[in-house]
Amino acid sequence: MSEAPDLFDAESRALLAARTAFGEEGDGGAHRHALGELLTAYERLLRETRRMVRRSDRAEFEMNQLNQRLQDLTGQLEYRATHDPLTGVLNRAAIIERSNRHLASGSLALIVLDIDHFKRVNDSFGHPVGDTVICGVVDCLKGVAPAVAQIGRVGGEEFTALLPGVSQEVAAQAAEQMRKAIAAHDFALPDRSRVTASFGVSWQAQGSGFDAAYGSADEALYQAKRRGRNQVARAALVEA
Ligand code: GH3
Ligand code: MG
Ligand code: MG
Repeated sequence: MSEAPDLFDAESRALLAARTAFGEEGDGGAHRHALGELLTAYERLLRETRRMVRRSDRAEFEMNQLNQRLQDLTGQLEYRATHDPLTGVLNRAAIIERSNRHLASGSLALIVLDIDHFKRVNDSFGHPVGDTVICGVVDCLKGVAPAVAQIGRVGGEEFTALLPGVSQEVAAQAAEQMRKAIAAHDFALPDRSRVTASFGVSWQAQGSGFDAAYGSADEALYQAKRRGRNQVARAALVEA
């Protein structure tokens, strides 16, 4: 196996020659010659060292840039995995994950809402108008939701707000604010019709899970629909 050439071979030889000249009696000429060689070698050594420092600075800069890009991409991937692309709120998987996380350490109030007669909007004005209504509903929710609320889209035109550590009473009041905000909002539909939504509100103690919280909120939502829509219904509280 051949060894890699020593980059500083010439300098090592000049140093050896200088050391030898230094140890010998010799004349001034020999010393001067060895010193000249040493100067040349030392200057080259400095040039090489500076070049290597520059190269290493460049490599470090490029590595930092790649690292930053990797961090940005990881952030984007994480965002896409947990958010709904149309509205920017949490997606179903993230809602389930967060609900279960909250319920592992405390109680959770859950608001579920569904836009009333939404098929009519799509059928009358087309899917893109339906999409703008969905985004408008999310804006209404964000506008009035308490700071603690985490808003998500569980399905087509069905949304949730997670309210960790909040009582069912307070969550029902928040749902009522959301209902009013949607009913009062001008969605600029071509026939000037209004948009409303129905709400179900559940409350679960620590140790429960998303399925139980969603199941009872959805049942209450179904009651709100049956009773005439554009209203808030509370799920019966389960005794601990
Ligand atoms: P109800 O009051 O009983 O809720 O009546 P509805 O017409 O709203 O009925 P439903 O909730 O079953 O309607 C869901 C409709 O939502 C059907 C589907 O075409 C539409 N939808 C689902 N996802 C989207 C979406 O991303 N964009 C649009 N524009 N429409 C969607
Ligand atoms: Mg629906
Ligand atoms: Mg609906």
